[in-house]
Amino acid sequence: MREEVLRVDGLKVWYSVGGSYVKAVDGVSFTVYRGEVFGIAGESGCGKSTLVSSLVLLKPPMRHMGGRALFHGKDLFSMSGEELRKIRYKGISIIPQFALDALSPTKRIRDIILDLAAVHEPNLTKREVLERAEERLRLVSLSPKVLDMYPVELSGGMRQRAVLVVSTLFNPELLIADEVTSALDVTTQRVVLELLLEFLKAGIIGSIVAVTHDIASLYQIADRMMIMYAGKVVEIGPAEELVKRPRHPYTQALISSIPSLGVTYKEKRLSGLKGSPPNLRDPPPGCRFAPRCPYAFERCGEEPPAVELGGGHVFYCWLGVR
Ligand code: ATP
Ligand code: SF4
Repeated sequence: MREEVLRVDGLKVWYSVGGSYVKAVDGVSFTVYRGEVFGIAGESGCGKSTLVSSLVLLKPPMRHMGGRALFHGKDLFSMSGEELRKIRYKGISIIPQFALDALSPTKRIRDIILDLAAVHEPNLTKREVLERAEERLRLVSLSPKVLDMYPVELSGGMRQRAVLVVSTLFNPELLIADEVTSALDVTTQRVVLELLLEFLKAGIIGSIVAVTHDIASLYQIADRMMIMYAGKVVEIGPAEELVKRPRHPYTQALISSIPSLGVTYKEKRLSGLKGSPPNLRDPPPGCRFAPRCPYAFERCGEEPPAVELGGGHVFYCWLGVR
């Protein structure tokens, strides 16, 4: 039986802006299991970053409007600031979307690490912390001399690897990597993804949630994938199954638009998806993909059902029960 690390259940996180709400995450459910890479993909603005950053720190104008996120059975949204601070880095650690700027520019890497250790791993001596840091820097092919440097002295690729070391230094049970590769060139991207996997295999990280709009990269590392559209989940399944046999029209359109995946669909209606995602202040009722969906029919004005295909493959679409 797989061990559940995170169970997100009907989560709603909206932005309160100028007297109205942007429904960025609107009833999202999924589970992350121990030892896996769980990928979250979807085009820009579908709510990926809002979803994962709300799990770590709910900042205004974000608001928790409903649902739960159980980390080892305890709801992150009912934890106090102090409880959340305690699980940060050791329980859940995040490499944020703009990771290259994540390290304090006025501190040397050594001091950034020692300050974090004083809070999150107070039982370790400074020497033990620095020894572990040196060992991890070597694992990511960085010299221990990096400890004496300021973040600005590192190149983009080096800084990304330094962020990886800092975020995983206390062996997090769950690492959330939000678009870790978007600011990097293709070769560096591949190296960072491979390092993440190495850390997982070495037991340094318990599980990974990897967020990206780049499905081709995600497919290289993810065990399971979730596709989001306009604040909702449209499909979840084992990565191979989801990429080779997607069932939701949006997933099909998304995947057939990536030639490197080598998957195409005979269905002409899906090629060259027109239009853009809805305004999340006032999304359409029912299926949010309906205004762009070539198969939309009357029933799509109602919330689509979850259609279970077995093996954990689920999609949300009326076509599945027609
Ligand atoms: P990207 O990959 O471009 O970051 P994303 O899928 O991560 O996109 P989010 O950044 O979570 O999407 O944005 C989801 C929705 O929330 C978008 O409509 C966005 O405009 C809106 N949004 C994001 N941040 C804020 C904010 N601070 N205030 C109001 N709306 C916001
Ligand atoms: Fe298209 Fe309807 Fe399925 Fe939505 S529910 S994806 S509109 S067929």
